[in-house]
Amino acid sequence: MITLEEFAGAIRESREIVVFTGAGISTESGIPDFRSPGGIWSRYRPVTFQEYVSSEESRIEAWKRRLETRETDKNAKPNAGHYFIQSLNEKGKLIGLITQNVDGLHSESGLPDEKIVELHGSNRRVLCLKCAKSYDPDKVVERLVGRFASPKCDDCGGILKSATISFGQAMPERAMRQAQEWTEQARVFIVMGSSLQVQPAASFPVVARRNGALLAIINREPTPIDDYASFVHQGAIGEFCRRFNALIADG
Ligand code: NAD
Repeated sequence: MITLEEFAGAIRESREIVVFTGAGISTESGIPDFRSPGGIWSRYRPVTFQEYVSSEESRIEAWKRRLETRETDKNAKPNAGHYFIQSLNEKGKLIGLITQNVDGLHSESGLPDEKIVELHGSNRRVLCLKCAKSYDPDKVVERLVGRFASPKCDDCGGILKSATISFGQAMPERAMRQAQEWTEQARVFIVMGSSLQVQPAASFPVVARRNGALLAIINREPTPIDDYASFVHQGAIGEFCRRFNALIADG
């Protein structure tokens, strides 16, 4: 393991950094993660892709959830963790950001789209599963009042679904390919706020380390690959980034 100062030194010197984020980077923006106490899994069961396409009841369940979390999602703003990554990019140090998050906060922090891979899609778009027409989620959700039916495409009548990747749904090919390329190019690979329990996403840090990259993990809880990492900080991301920014300021 290297020290905090050594990690800061590596960040100051490197222009080949890849950051990989999970739900934990957005908890300080008010969006609950999946596996922490009070997280999403403690309140809701996941609706699989197969259930969604085959059952109106499951679709309604998914949209009711969306209605319940609508205000939280709308009010969430990027935090120190998101801005830390955006500043790495401003300094010309970031190859790219790979995220498992669907909340769009990296984009809102000012990170350009071409530097972002959303492995699990985005809840800032709704798509028709039949003709791929794209909808503004607000416009779709507005129609869900009273005892509603699940929303359908205005053009073809197909099922509408948030542009996120559900359990049982294939990973997006282009995003996976881009994430793999960046991972192979990384000299420094930083994981922030992921339990690293979801595959295939969690395999990226392992590949980066195997290729000789410095692997840093910043997460409140231990992860299954902490022993494999070059630097581990167990604690809150926001507090860590605020402190770390001062250490890398002259980089
Ligand atoms: P996870 O819930 O499995 O793990 C989150 C990790 O972050 C936990 O280990 C937790 O200890 C840590 N954490 C929470 N708050 C933290 C903080 N402030 N500072 C440091 N660490 C913190 O989430 P995951 O690994 O991203 O994987 C689960 C799935 O969750 C992903 O597929 C993702 O699509 C989905 N998800 C996304 C969002 C979002 O977009 N914000 C929210 C919930 C779930």
